[in-house]
Amino acid sequence: MDRVYFENHLPVGGFVWIENLEENSILPDAARPPFITYKNNDCLCKVIHPLEKNPLLYRELANLYPSKENITSFAKKYGLLRRENGEIIDKHKNVFKPACSYSTWIESIIEMHCMVFLLDLIKNEDDVLASKILHITENGQCALVSAIIPVERIGLDWYKDLVKIWPDFMNGDDSKVGQYQKKYPDVLSLCFWNTTKRGIEVLKHLFRFPWEEEVYKKLKALDNSVEFLRYLMLRKISEVYENGLSVKFLVDIDTKVKSSSIGVEKYLVPEDLYTALFVQLEMEILNTRELRQCEYCGDWFIATDKRQKYCPEFIKVVNPYTGEVKKVPTGKHCKVYAYRQKNKGIPS
Ligand SMILES: [Zn+2]
Repeated sequence: MDRVYFENHLPVGGFVWIENLEENSILPDAARPPFITYKNNDCLCKVIHPLEKNPLLYRELANLYPSKENITSFAKKYGLLRRENGEIIDKHKNVFKPACSYSTWIESIIEMHCMVFLLDLIKNEDDVLASKILHITENGQCALVSAIIPVERIGLDWYKDLVKIWPDFMNGDDSKVGQYQKKYPDVLSLCFWNTTKRGIEVLKHLFRFPWEEEVYKKLKALDNSVEFLRYLMLRKISEVYENGLSVKFLVDIDTKVKSSSIGVEKYLVPEDLYTALFVQLEMEILNTRELRQCEYCGDWFIATDKRQKYCPEFIKVVNPYTGEVKKVPTGKHCKVYAYRQKNKGIPS
């Protein structure tokens, strides 16, 4: 299993939504209002490790209904999805409060939802559906491969309805748009209309890549649509990694590999929660971690021991920058409870 180190931050002062900014920042990473950001300027934070406690967190994002309320509760538990530049704190030092645009949340939810759809398809080895979704155009030296998920297969009602009313919106037919807003008052219209055109494109052609001839030849010879999709997903993930994943080597002087060399452990370090969730997804696609279901509560946990049957009470987190080992409590005591339950029926 790949070692991954991810920490996110919870502002002690809580979160707040900003509807508009007086001064429009022209920085490339600027959050677009409305966005969620830290309430206080001191940016005092608690460090959290959401991946360890929630091995299926990417699925929680994939099914999140994007009301402000839901996004706020998600952020309160797991931190911001991405770190964009919110309000300026120090003009001279160019210091901003971290923020995450509403449109970023929406785009990420749709993206993750489609990824989970494809993941489940791969896991079920649904070759018939895979071949329907896969579209290949051969073009001389290379091929263009896209995955097009039919809208009716998407499990997000608010999104499906949006796709339906989109032509009316473009034609200026306000009556259906009004109905939509009534049905989904939480989906903030203003910023949504401005950004969702791209969202719909993303949905129709979720992934579209020109492929290198060698890879294409190999996959074509396999004649297996599921494998094609698996590779397509990895291509998509590698795009996410390009901007958000770094590698850190932790030197361990005590563990010598050979007499002359030092022990080194490699860690993948996602820069934000968005990238971190793609790391979880990748592990699912490549089966590089063992998920087990707790015999007491039924939740999934990452198994670190062969005999492990219940959710762990603590999770060990190693910080690859400092080597510090932290035992993070999960808040679960399933092993203890299961033991108590077992012994209840035994007469003393
Ligand atoms: Zn449990």
